[in-house]
Amino acid sequence: MHRLILLLLLALALPAQAEGFITRLLNKPVPGGVAVLDLGMQGPAPRVRYRDKPVLVVKEDGKRWIAIVGIPLTVEPGVQTVTVERNGAPRTQDFQISSRKYREQRITLKNQRQVDPNPEDLKRIERELDEQTAAYRQFSESQPSNLLFDKPVNGPLSSPFGLRRFFNGQERNPHSGLDFAVPAGTVVKAPADGRVMLTGNYFFNGNTIFIDHGQGLVSMFCHLSKIEVKVGDAILRGDALGRVGSTGRATGSHLHWNISLNDVRIDPSIFIGQYKR
Ligand SMILES: [Zn+2]
Repeated sequence: MHRLILLLLLALALPAQAEGFITRLLNKPVPGGVAVLDLGMQGPAPRVRYRDKPVLVVKEDGKRWIAIVGIPLTVEPGVQTVTVERNGAPRTQDFQISSRKYREQRITLKNQRQVDPNPEDLKRIERELDEQTAAYRQFSESQPSNLLFDKPVNGPLSSPFGLRRFFNGQERNPHSGLDFAVPAGTVVKAPADGRVMLTGNYFFNGNTIFIDHGQGLVSMFCHLSKIEVKVGDAILRGDALGRVGSTGRATGSHLHWNISLNDVRIDPSIFIGQYKR
């Protein structure tokens, strides 16, 4: 009898199925992180939506469907829900978000206009935001070539994702990506295959490239001194995209890299296997 209870407890303590590599790499269910959801093994790819946006779904280890969901920085720890649809019958699936602390950062800018843009700047910023939001919201059906990304440049990380930022003492949006401290002119390489969705010169982001890696997984590279690709170009993992610079709101040469999933900016360190709690 006791042995039976022991076996039962042991069975409860073990996960139903062993997690695959992608799940272990990407499942960081915190605000600004990623939740990997097991969708079971049956049938064709289910369609998954989170906050009314389509979600990346891939097959793990050739057998199990998983959803890879971007979690907004603004989400409170607790229960979140996706809808899963197969054969036209949607159902909901809950998952749990735990907490993560993000530090503060204070930055001094010489150009006060980058902290308090004038009315004309604000018009420009709004136009650029619309353009960039539209890029993030595109959803192509192609499968990402790899989910363990290569670092786009070889260099030390300077600012992590999610820092609460104060520019000249005023709080602005938290840091939406990862910064690498590398000299101007360093080649920026594609972390995975993709297609160039958008390029531009923006008020805050400077010279910028958007790459669609498939199914709403998007990379954005900012502050470039040079853009060496054009919209529509097919990109292979490792291809040169442009050069590091300090255009836009930047205090010096660095690469700023955003990753977006289901139109949510998440911590890119997860995708290069360097996430720290
Ligand atoms: Zn940055």
